[in-house]
Parts: sequence; structure tokens; C-alpha cells
Amino acid sequence: MTKGLMVVLSGPSGAGKDTILHTLLQRDPRVKLSISATTRKPREGEVDGQHYYFVTREQFLAMRERGEVLESAEYCGNFYGTPEKPIRDWMAAGNDVILEIEVQGGAQVKQKCPDCVGIFILPPSIKELERRLRDRGTETEEAIQKRLDAACGEIQHARDYDYVVINDTVENAVEAIQNILRAEKYSKCRN
Ligand code: 5GP
Repeated sequence: MTKGLMVVLSGPSGAGKDTILHTLLQRDPRVKLSISATTRKPREGEVDGQHYYFVTREQFLAMRERGEVLESAEYCGNFYGTPEKPIRDWMAAGNDVILEIEVQGGAQVKQKCPDCVGIFILPPSIKELERRLRDRGTETEEAIQKRLDAACGEIQHARDYDYVVINDTVENAVEAIQNILRAEKYSKCRN
């Protein structure tokens, strides 16, 4: 069996990554989503072990010290990191695994695992990004401004990724990602 792909998916907060991923995972049960650890507080409706592993700063630093995370980064004042073992197990079983992470982490993964497939999700415009962040209704004005500032910086990194997908509609974005995964699998089989 071909080993599964490791896919790094990045894009500014509000670009629509979560909705895209939700649809993609429903359509293809072979695609798995890595669950990150974070020191951020859970938002309403977020479940520990499902959306994130919510940990304290001390727990996070200990995990990192033990070498349990493939990458880690600080984003808007919180730590985020990808536990490595579940990813390796899924890939060995032939599943494609998606790491939905920000750009510093994306660069670390690309360096450690050059075979990974990098996909950057862009919103149709900055105005639309702002509208989506406000429509969520989960963040304070200060947090929205922080995320908009972070987004402008992050977008500069789109060129470091193998593919850029514009999220004009969820349907188009999901189809584009499915096509990328098919093409990458095909080229891996041939090499
Ligand atoms: P949020 O707080 O909105 O859930 O996530 C904020 C940012 O952290 C998003 O860009 C998300 O992709 C990124 N992120 C989530 N998990 C990880 C992780 O494990 N590592 C890194 N580097 N970034 C992550």
C-alpha cells in the first residue's frame, strides 16, 4: 500500500479553512485531521480532544521538551503544536493526514519532511476576510484586529507553499484540494 500523504494546510484565520476541512473530511474518510495541542482557551462549543488538546503552558513545554511535537509556534500569544505520533501512525496505515497549522509551523514541517504537500488557502479579498472574522462573533474587537494584522503578514508566505487555493466558495476550494491530493498521489506512485 502507498504510504499516505502529509498535507500542510495554512491560511489566515477567517480564510475558511475549518469549513473546507469539515466538508473534505466528510467526503473522504481516508483523509484524517491532525489534532493540535494549544495553550489557547477553548472557544464556545470547542471540545477537548476533538478540536484541540487544550493544555497549560507547562504541559505544552513538557510535551515539546520530550520531543513529542513535530512543530510548534506561538500565535497571538498562545502556543500551538502538532503531536507527531498519531500522524505517523495514520500515514503508515495509508491515510492522508492534514495539518491545519500557521506559517511558522508550516515552514518547520517543510524543512523536516520535504515530501509534505503545502497548500495555502486565501480568502477572495482582505475585506471579505474581515467580514468573515466579524461574522464569527467569537472574538473581541482587539482579537479581530490582532488576527487581521497576523493575516496580512501570513499572506506573504503563500509563495512558500506548493499550491494556493482561493476560497471563493467552499465547493470550489474542496474540489481543488481533492484534485491536488489525487495528483500528488499519482505522481508519488510513478516516482
Ligand atoms: P485558532 O486559535 O483560530 O484555532 O488557530 C490560530 C492559528 O493557529 C490558525 O492559523 C491555525 O491554523 C494555527 N494552528 C492550529 N494548530 C496549530 C499547530 O499545531 N501548529 C501551528 N504551528 N499552528 C497551529
